[in-house]
Formats: sequence, structure tokens, C-alpha cells
Amino acid sequence: MIDNLKQLFSFLDNAYNVQSTVSVIGDVFPLSAIYIYDTTTSSLRDFSKSWMFIKSKELNNIFRKLETGNEKYISEGSKSYYALYNNKKIIGMLEFHEKLHSKLLEFLELSIYPISLKIQNIILIERMQKNIDFHDAMKNIAKIIETQYETSYIVPIIGEMIDKFVSDHLVYIFIDNKLVWPAACNDSKIFELIKCLRNNSEYILTPDKKIGLFPLISESKLLGCIVTKSTDNELSEKEIEYLEQLTNQAATTINRANVYAEILKHATLDALTGFYNRRQLEERLKQEVSSAKRQKRNLCAIMTDIDFFKSVNDTYGHAVGDLVLKTVARVIKLQLRDYDIAGRYGGEEFVIMLPYTRLEEAKIVAERLRKAVENTQIDITKVNPDAKDKKINVTISLGVYEYHKEDYEKTLIRNADKALYIAKETGRNKVAVIESNM
Ligand code: GH3
Ligand code: MG
Ligand code: MG
Repeated sequence: MIDNLKQLFSFLDNAYNVQSTVSVIGDVFPLSAIYIYDTTTSSLRDFSKSWMFIKSKELNNIFRKLETGNEKYISEGSKSYYALYNNKKIIGMLEFHEKLHSKLLEFLELSIYPISLKIQNIILIERMQKNIDFHDAMKNIAKIIETQYETSYIVPIIGEMIDKFVSDHLVYIFIDNKLVWPAACNDSKIFELIKCLRNNSEYILTPDKKIGLFPLISESKLLGCIVTKSTDNELSEKEIEYLEQLTNQAATTINRANVYAEILKHATLDALTGFYNRRQLEERLKQEVSSAKRQKRNLCAIMTDIDFFKSVNDTYGHAVGDLVLKTVARVIKLQLRDYDIAGRYGGEEFVIMLPYTRLEEAKIVAERLRKAVENTQIDITKVNPDAKDKKINVTISLGVYEYHKEDYEKTLIRNADKALYIAKETGRNKVAVIESNM
């Protein structure tokens, strides 16, 4: 008996989580469940089933009997129960799938305190782990603000983080009343509840506490909500408190992303090259064409495209591709006058407008740009230290077209593009010209 006890205590000592604790006890006793009374919600919970709420009247009655009576052991039908203690106080009970014979009962009497203690320790550890998980989730959600601005990218990260945190609940994220994570939600009740949210709403809990709606509110704007749903488990007060904080953090993150996306939309410059972006380029093009028309002054357009750029990406990686783009843009910029206009038209295509410039001069400028790019050595070691080459260079092809008084903006671009096509077709790394509107 003493040896058996020693062995049990040593196994208990080594148990480190719910599963291993249950299995150590189950190896010695015909254990079927461990129930713990949760004082914060005044309800019986299943220790090994993620703290599942126990509704069964019979089990609650048996627990009451153990709590109020003098008996530590009760047998009911084919099952039997033994009280778990914290000092003299009963904190829960072990359930066995059969009656315990006297030898085993005696053994249990001797070992019930260490067993109770171990279970309490594991509960504490689990709560601490929950705290750690919560702080990790908070930290991670806060962190993505610094690096990500795409809502479509942020939302799944937040979803997965919260999902991990309340792993026994399903998690849904709605933005503007639309489900954005995960792909489907077939609970019509949730959709009904969402309609009740306002921009000053607090969280909503269904009466059975199994569905929780946490509004995503930032700067007094309702952005959406995070919903948790479980078929078995109620949300505990602590979980609610945590979810409120996580939702707040998520709302701030999503709001920042929205604000940034809005700023980007209105931004005039392309982030990579510092040239005008496509939208702004078209705006400037319109202005230049209309003032050339009005003031009858010269205007030329150059369209450039990097030669074999795809193979730069393929050989050295996209980061090197980006560096090349940036470098080519800088080299071009250095060759231009202050009032020339350069914009990123597409991936690696730039449009340059030269006001007060005739075709002959524009051709000279284009040739200067071509040479400048050709002569630029690009050090790629910082971006791709493992590449087989330390320095690379690229070439560009250019198409030049001069504005004629009947032209529209589109004609200007189309003809410069046609000229570029000719430059590509006739060998690349060269300048081609289209003389008149074709
Ligand atoms: P060509 O001489 O005929 O122009 O050949 P190419 O390989 O340059 O062909 P194309 O102009 O069609 O290739 C464009 C490539 O540019 C495809 C795409 O992968 C790459 N690209 C476009 N935008 C970017 C960007 O912002 N960064 C990087 N790294 N690559 C880009
Ligand atoms: Mg190209
Ligand atoms: Mg291209």
C-alpha cells in the first residue's frame, strides 16, 4: 500500500496538465469525470472538458449532498462519487463509473489531499496560461498595426489569434455587417443580433451566455464586431473581460488600417519610386495637355519600360526587382528638369512629360535617360547577399511622341506606348519615335 501511494504521488508530481492529471488518477481508480465547483459563476464544471458547464440536476444534487452532509463518498446507481477538498472546504468531486470496493476506498482516502491539491494547481496553471495567451494575443494584435495596413490581411490574423484564445468557441468577424472571417456562418441568430449593434453599444450576450457579440468600435465609429459562439460552454466573466479588451485592440488596428488605406488612395506619390502614382499622373497629364492646347506650347511624352525585367525578378528575387525599379526611377529623376513630370504608369513602366519641349529635344533627353540607366551599376548585396552577382545593370527602352494640337491625353500616351513597342521590337535598350498621330 505504501509503495502504491508513493508511486501515485510521484506520478501526480509529474503530471503537468489536465490530460496527464486525469490519466494518472484514471490509472489507479475507475475514474469517469472530475467536476469542480466554479464559485465565480456558481456552477459545476467539467475539469477535463474545457471547463464545460454541467447542467445535470442529479450531479448538482450529489454535489450539494457532499457539500452539506458528512459523507465523503456517495454511491448512486452504478456510479460513485468522492469529494475533493481545499482544506476543509469541498471544491468538487471525482466521479467513478462503478462502486469502489473497500480497499480502493481506503486508498482513495489516503490520497485524496494530494489529488485535490494537484487538481487545484492545474486549474491555477491553466488560468495563468489563459492570462499569458491573452497578453500574447493583445501584443500580437497591437504589433500588426506597425507592419500591416491591408484589412484583408489583418482580419484573418486577428481571427486566428482570438480563435486560439477562446479555443472552445467558434469565432466570427464581421465588418460593416458582412462576415469577413471565416468563410461561412450559418447561424441566423447571429445575423439578427448584429443588426442591434450601434456605435455606442456594449457587448451583447445571449441569455444562455453561449453567443457573445463584441462590437469593434474605434473613434466612436462602429466598424463591425467579433462574435463568439459555443454549443456547450458559457463565456466566463473573465473571458468576457478579455474579449472586450481584445476587441478594443482589434478595432484600433482595423481603424488605423482603414485610415491608412484612405491616405494611400489620396496620396499623389508612388511609394516605391517617389514618382507620381497612376491616378495623379493622369491628373497632371490632363492639366498639361489642356495648358499646351490653350497656350499653344510644345509638349512631349516619353514612355519607358525596363528590358527583361521579369528575369531580374526571377533570377534575383522581387526585393532586388524593387531595388532596381527604385534605382532606375532615381537615375531618371536626376536627368530631368524641375518642371518635367514623371509618373509610374504601370509595374515597371514610367511616363515622363516634358513641357516646353520639341521632339528633337525630347529625343536627346530620352537618349540621355537610356545611357544613364545603362551606365548605372546597381549594388544588390544589401537586398540579396546570397545572389551570384554583387552588382547588376539593366537597360530601358523608350518611346517618344510629341503632342499635336488635336491630340487628347489618351492619344499622347497611346502614341508614346506605340513608339516604345517599336523600340522593344527593334532590339531594346533604345529610343524610338512616332512622328505624327498614328
Ligand atoms: P520586356 O523587355 O519585354 O519589357 O520584358 P519584361 O520581362 O520586362 O516584360 P514585362 O515588361 O511584361 O514584365 C514586367 C514585369 O515586371 C512583370 C512583373 O513581375 C514585374 N513587376 C511589375 N511591377 C513590379 C514591382 O513593383 N516590383 C517588382 N519587383 N517587379 C514588378
Ligand atoms: Mg519590361
Ligand atoms: Mg512592362
